[in-house]
Amino acid sequence: MSVTTQIRELQATLPKDVTLVAVSKFHPVEAIREAYEAGQRIFGESRPQELAAKVPQLPKDIEWHMIGHLQTNKVKMIAPFVALIHSVDSERLVAEINRQAEKCGRTIDILFEVHLAEDESKSGWDTSELKEFLASGAMAQFPNVRPRGVMTIGTLTDDIELNKKEFLTLRELFEELRSQFGPDFDTVSMGMTSDYKEAIECGSTMVRIGSMIFGERVY
Ligand SMILES: *Cc1c(COP(=O)(O)O)cnc(C)c1O
Repeated sequence: MSVTTQIRELQATLPKDVTLVAVSKFHPVEAIREAYEAGQRIFGESRPQELAAKVPQLPKDIEWHMIGHLQTNKVKMIAPFVALIHSVDSERLVAEINRQAEKCGRTIDILFEVHLAEDESKSGWDTSELKEFLASGAMAQFPNVRPRGVMTIGTLTDDIELNKKEFLTLRELFEELRSQFGPDFDTVSMGMTSDYKEAIECGSTMVRIGSMIFGERVY
């Protein structure tokens, strides 16, 4: 099916309070333009170089999200324009985003990536580690960073029940943290092509969908 058809289908079927991030990594600007023409305005990329190269070629009203692992030395490439960084997995990275945001005269929205998967290789905070960090009041040192919520990548598995368990755990953590942050803290980013329906059932407010829209990626 075409990009246009898939975007329209998702726009028609996703609940109104769930935001769609169209994950365009590894796909050319032509495919992004097609999704844009179909009404999509929020796009997610996972590599800073690729993102920075695409931005000047596309309309200015696109909201660009960084969803992939971000090295501190790459933050400056995206700080001038990035709308939301989903993959914030360490205090060092928070500090660097704050530093670069300040240089650009911006406040950058972030999500804390939480590691719930039973998969050793993935990045993200452990739940207890994140709670401890936030309870310490450390975020007060970073006025140019605005915490908007939490994000997770589900375990890569056919066991959808395991993914649901992870999603419910993230939603619960979000509720707990929201009482600390107040109404700006409003985002639970979870769910991809294979599991977005379950993620929404479990309280996702933002889904990141790539291959369903753009087809398989060629690496
Ligand atoms: C690539 C990617 C997605 C999209 O995955 P699909 O299975 O293609 O929908 C979502 N989230 C993250 C963090 C990704 O890296």
